[in-house]
Amino acid sequence: MKRRIGIMGGTFDPIHMGHLITAEMVRADAHLDEILFIPSARPPHKDGARAASAEDRLIMTEYAVAENPYFSVSDVELRRDGPSYTVDTIAQLRADLGDAELFFITGADAMNDLYLWHEPEQLLRSCRFIVATRQGVPLDEVLIAEKFTVEDRSHIEVLPTPHLEISSTVIRARIRAGLSIRHLVPRVVEEYIEKRGLYREYDKEL
Ligand code: ATP
Ligand code: MG
Repeated sequence: MKRRIGIMGGTFDPIHMGHLITAEMVRADAHLDEILFIPSARPPHKDGARAASAEDRLIMTEYAVAENPYFSVSDVELRRDGPSYTVDTIAQLRADLGDAELFFITGADAMNDLYLWHEPEQLLRSCRFIVATRQGVPLDEVLIAEKFTVEDRSHIEVLPTPHLEISSTVIRARIRAGLSIRHLVPRVVEEYIEKRGLYREYDKEL
């Protein structure tokens, strides 16, 4: 049996319970063997300054996944120079991991934007996609049908997951406003943010 590996890419600025719960539900429901979290270096499709450094985001992600034996973190995108394209990351993982089956996990918001990513058709063909539904952002089936062929779309599977309206944007805003983020992120991440004074001064929110 081929190993089934879920890949959760993101800026993780910071990682939060929405990411972790979604990843765990997808792992269990789609019978994946493990989930690899891949913090992105310079997301080419997201403009604006990132609030925490790549190193801080990597450390927080490592802390957050430590308690789940099925979770691990890869720094492939942070080690690569230049813009990090998911299509290149999947190609590299494919080379590194042999004949494992790769499942890229996204929220509906990210899937709706997929046609704007680098080489989207090639990316769709290079692995399978699991779209975790996210409240407030329905999957735009009409748009996706317009942008991709039936064959390419067969690589996309929609998986209902618990709807948790938690985002890194909300967490950064709450920290700036001096409000609690307890239980929105793992305790170790909360402590790291406090210790490093992250997100307090950040006011360039998009
Ligand atoms: P930001 O608010 O800065 O955009 P974010 O919370 O959306 O951050 P990202 O790092 O951009 O987090 O997201 C990485 C991936 O996790 C994306 O595929 C996104 O759709 C998904 N995701 C983020 N938050 C949730 C959530 N609460 N439930 C399900 N999926 C989520
Ligand atoms: Mg986002």
